[in-house]
Amino acid sequence: MRSRSLEKWTAARSAELYGVDNWGGGYFRVTSDGLLGITPFPGSETCVPIMDIIGGLQERGLGLPVLLRVENLLDAQITLLHESFAAAIATLGYGGEFRGVYPVKVNQQQQVLEEIAKVGGRFNHGFEVGSKAELIAALSFLNNPRACLVCNGYKDKDYIDLALYACKMGFLSFLVLEMPSELPLILERSRVLGIEPRIGVRIKVSSQAGGHWAESAGDLSIFGLSTAEVVDAVDLLREQNMLHCMQFLHFHLGSQIPNIRDIRMAVREATRMYAELVAEGCPMGFLDLGGGLAVDYDGSHTNYPSSRNYTLQEYCMDIVESVMSTLDERGVAHPHIITESGRATVAYYSVLLFNVLDISRLEDRPVPEKLDSDAPEAIHNLLEVYNSLSLKNLQECYNDAIYYRDEVRQLFRLGQCSLRQRALSDTIFWAVIRSIAERLPGMKNPPSALKDIDLALASIYYCNMSVFQSLPDAWAIGHLFPIMPVHRLSEEPTETAILADITCDSDGKLDRFIDIHGEKRVLELHSLTCGEPYYLGAFLVGAYQETLGDLHNLFGDTNVVSVRINEDGTYDLTRELEGDSVADVLSYVEFDPKQVLENFRKVAEAGVREGKISPQERFLIMRAYERGLRGYTYLHEGRGGCAVESVESSQGR
Ligand SMILES: *Cc1c(COP(=O)(O)O)cnc(C)c1O
Repeated sequence: MRSRSLEKWTAARSAELYGVDNWGGGYFRVTSDGLLGITPFPGSETCVPIMDIIGGLQERGLGLPVLLRVENLLDAQITLLHESFAAAIATLGYGGEFRGVYPVKVNQQQQVLEEIAKVGGRFNHGFEVGSKAELIAALSFLNNPRACLVCNGYKDKDYIDLALYACKMGFLSFLVLEMPSELPLILERSRVLGIEPRIGVRIKVSSQAGGHWAESAGDLSIFGLSTAEVVDAVDLLREQNMLHCMQFLHFHLGSQIPNIRDIRMAVREATRMYAELVAEGCPMGFLDLGGGLAVDYDGSHTNYPSSRNYTLQEYCMDIVESVMSTLDERGVAHPHIITESGRATVAYYSVLLFNVLDISRLEDRPVPEKLDSDAPEAIHNLLEVYNSLSLKNLQECYNDAIYYRDEVRQLFRLGQCSLRQRALSDTIFWAVIRSIAERLPGMKNPPSALKDIDLALASIYYCNMSVFQSLPDAWAIGHLFPIMPVHRLSEEPTETAILADITCDSDGKLDRFIDIHGEKRVLELHSLTCGEPYYLGAFLVGAYQETLGDLHNLFGDTNVVSVRINEDGTYDLTRELEGDSVADVLSYVEFDPKQVLENFRKVAEAGVREGKISPQERFLIMRAYERGLRGYTYLHEGRGGCAVESVESSQGR
C-alpha cells in the first residue's frame, strides 16, 4: 500500500506517473475522465478510449486476454519513417532516394505484410527476408518493381532459384552473400537458369554497439563476410566477368541500438567499404544500413537499453549526412539508402490487454503491545526492534529484524516455538519492514541495502495472460515494456505491485517496470473493487513478441483483434482471430484431440460400470470435458478481487 498523496489525484498525474507522453509516440493519451485513449492522427482530437474497444469486444463474446492491433499506427509509423528520410534528403541535397524495407522476421503475420505492402506502396517500401519461407511470404504481397526485395540469410539452391526467378519477373531483388560459399552456387544457378543476379555482400563492421543485441555485429558476429572474404568475392566475380552484378552492400549492427554514436560510426565504416567497392569497379547503387532504429520503451530519451538517445529526425539526418560526407570526399555518386527498420515500424501497433484475476498482499496485522512471558526471547527482541525504530537506526533495525526472524525460524525447526508464536513473529517482522519502508522517503541517502524494500512489500497481481506466450522478451532477455491500467486513471493508484501470470512457473512474472530514471521494481496500481474488472495493457509489443511466444503450461495464442480508427472517432473491427482452443494446443504437442476425448470417454464409462458415477453424471462430466477441449486456454472470468488473500507473498522471502 502506498501512502496517499495530499493533493487531489488527477488524470494528468496518472499520465505523468506512467509516462504516457514519453513512450507513447503521440499515439496514446490519458483523457480528462481517466481513460487511456488511442490518438492515431497527429494533430487531431480524435481519441478512442481502449475501454470502449474492450466493451465492444465483450459484447461480441471475445474475451481477454486479447492482442489489439491498431492498423492506423502501422500506417503512421511507415509514413513517418519515409517522411523523415525525405526531409533529411531534401535538406541536405542528397543525390539518392530512401528505399526502406520491412524485415519480415519482426512480425510475420499475414496482416502485417499485407498492410505494409499496401501503405508502403506509395513510398516504394519493400521487404527484407531471411529464409525461404519469408521469401515465399513476401513474394505473395509485394507488387512494386521499385521496392527492394532484400534476400538475406543462409541460402540453398531452392532459395537462390526463387530469388533469381523473382529478378526475372521484375522484382528488384538482391541476393546478399552471408557466407563465401554462396557465391559459387549463385553463379552456377544463374548460368543454369540464364538469369543474371543482383548480388550484395553483408559485411561485418568492426564498430560495436551497446544494447541487448550487441553481439550480432562486429568481428565475432556469426553473420556476414570478413574484409578478406569480400575481396575474394570481388576477385571471383571479376574472374567470371560478373563484376557488374555487384550492386549492394549491407550490414546490420543489431536491434535496438540506444546510442546514435554507435550508429554513426558503423554507417561511416560501411560507407567507406561501399566507396572501396566502387573503386574496385563494382557498379553498386544501393547501401543497406540494416535495422537497429530503437524504440523508446521507457520514454527516458537516454542511451539505456530500453530507450534511445536520438529522435527519428536525428537518426535520418545523421545517416544521410554521414553517407554523403564520406562519399563526397571520394567523389562517389550517392546510392539509394535502405534501412531495415522492423522494431520501430511495428512496435506501437500492438497492445496486449488483460484483466487482473486476483491479488495477494501482505496484510497489515496489529502488533501486540505485550507478549506472553513464555514467548521465546527472539520474539521479545523483535518487538523491541519494532518499538525502537526511528529515522536514525533504519539499517540497524533492518539487520536486527532479519536476524531475530531467522532465529525464530530456527527455533521452529527445532520444535522450540509453536505455530502461533511463529505467526506472531512474522507479523512483527513485517510491521518492522513496512515501518522502515514508510520512513525511507524521509531519508536523504537511504542505505543501498534498503533500496528494494518496496519489492518485498509489493502486492502480487495475478494477471490473465502468459508472459511466455505474449511477452517472451520480458522473460528471456529482461526487456521492459510500458505497462499500465487503461481506466481508473483519475483515481490515485494506492498499491505497489508486481505482476504474476497464470502459468505455474516462478519465472512467469513481471517485476521490472519502465521508469524515467532507469527502471523500477514495483508498479503503482489501483486496489481491486469487488465485482469490478480491472484492466491493464502492455504496450509497444508489436515487434518480435508474437512468434517468439511459446506454449508454456499450454497457454496458447490469445485472441487477436485488429481495428481501424476513423477520423470521426468511430472504429471498425477489421479482423478477428480466435485464440487457440485447448484442443489446438494439445494438437501442437502431438496429442490427437479425438483420441483424447475417446480415452476419457472410456474412463468415464468405467466409472459408471464401477458405480462411482451415474449415467446422468457421465453425461454432465463428458459435456464439461468437451466444453473444456473446445474452450479458450485462458481464464474466462476473474473473481474481481472479491477474494483478497493475505498471504506472505513469496518473492525473495
Ligand atoms: C532482425 C533484423 C532486422 C530488424 O532490426 P530492427 O532493429 O528490428 O529494426 C533488420 N535486418 C536484419 C538483417 C535483421 O536480422
